[in-house]
Amino acid sequence: MEKANKKAIVVGAGLSGAVIARELAEQGYDVQVFERRDHIGGNMFDYVDEHGILVHKYGPHTFHTTKKELFDYICKYGEWDEYHLTCGAVINGKCTPTPFNFQTIDDFFAPNEAKAIKEVLLHEFPSRETVTVVEALNCPNPLVRKYAEFLFENDYRPYSAKQWGLDPSQIDPSILKRVPLRLSYKIGYFDDPYQAMPRISYVEFFENLLDHPNISVELNHDALKDLSIEDGQILYLGQKVDYPIVYTGPIDELFNHAYGPLPYRSLRFEFNHEPIDSKQDMPVVAYPQEPGFVRIIEFKKLPVQNVPGTTYEKEYSLPTSSGGNDEPYYPLLTEKSQENYAKYKEMAEKVPYLYVCGRLGDFKYYNMDQALEAALAIANKILR
Ligand SMILES: Cc1cc2nc3c(=O)[nH]c(=O)nc-3n(C[C@H](O)[C@H](O)[C@H](O)COP(=O)(O)OP(=O)(O)OC[C@H]3O[C@@H](n4cnc5c(N)ncnc54)[C@H](O)[C@@H]3O)c2cc1C
Repeated sequence: MEKANKKAIVVGAGLSGAVIARELAEQGYDVQVFERRDHIGGNMFDYVDEHGILVHKYGPHTFHTTKKELFDYICKYGEWDEYHLTCGAVINGKCTPTPFNFQTIDDFFAPNEAKAIKEVLLHEFPSRETVTVVEALNCPNPLVRKYAEFLFENDYRPYSAKQWGLDPSQIDPSILKRVPLRLSYKIGYFDDPYQAMPRISYVEFFENLLDHPNISVELNHDALKDLSIEDGQILYLGQKVDYPIVYTGPIDELFNHAYGPLPYRSLRFEFNHEPIDSKQDMPVVAYPQEPGFVRIIEFKKLPVQNVPGTTYEKEYSLPTSSGGNDEPYYPLLTEKSQENYAKYKEMAEKVPYLYVCGRLGDFKYYNMDQALEAALAIANKILR
């Protein structure tokens, strides 16, 4: 008699869920994936719109990593083209590159002063490619401070206030601890050695990842209708399970918000199409001084698509919590929310056969490479 496969359930067909499903399927598990949206791919979902332009439904996604093994992993399931994202910000009507660089200094200061600022920066921070905004704000040299304060008042302060729903006076420079300023004319948003976009689409990558005889995917299926946790045990359709349940949804929803909903910032994307060749200089541009929206993403530049007309989305930042009407995007990491998350995590860790992970399960902002690495670690843990 043939030996029956081991079984596993994976909740969520985003990157975390799909990678774990594939790893388990490769090792002989029958994996049932439940996804409550009507598509696979989670927040990396993309599609071709009615104007023939590939767009990202949940905001712009570029894969980047320092780790070759993670890049090699995604290459197993699709072809990727090298792609270096360039971003900008419009200040006083002028678009300048971000991270801000020497071009920014030329853009906003008179030639003599711009020359002096660049010289002083190189003198104050020798052999450095970047400095943080906080370092520049605290620099003893008044010219460096003048430059940093200009950026803080015209970009970081109003942008952060809009993004986090705060009054500009509440924005403390210390939140910019890691935000870099370039000490050269170098452009490009990331410095990672591996930066890529899928040759066809993220969805094609997910189709390949999930294309395995041991994996079945059910869309439009909210797994929490069938899963419950009672007396420290996880039940599926009312029965105790003795096989892995991987849950990549919001951890607070899994426990019926027992310690209250975890707070997030959400986003609203307003898609537009115009019969023009180009909307803005770069694919992703921040508009710190415009009321309402925070960024505009122009999709024909992400990756480059030679099509007539252009589709772009305006991104608005909104408050939310998981379980609200808006999608949770950026976890709000306050002392209170971290404390509550720790309680949920402790509860989850005590439940046999339950593996909570992914950006919503771990209540953490993950880049794709970080989500991938964490997912591979969970798959290994299950397989061990
Ligand atoms: C605006 C934006 C831009 C980003 N840009 C980049 C970028 O350029 N580069 C980068 O590396 N990263 C980027 N990221 C991060 C990237 O989106 C994440 O790393 C990645 O999507 C994490 O995948 P995940 O599977 O953990 O979560 P998700 O993609 O959120 O997948 C979780 C899935 O679980 C499903 N689910 C939840 N609950 C249930 C349930 N009860 N039943 C069934 N299904 C359920 C959800 O519907 C969802 O599809 C960006 C994020 C945002 C918000």
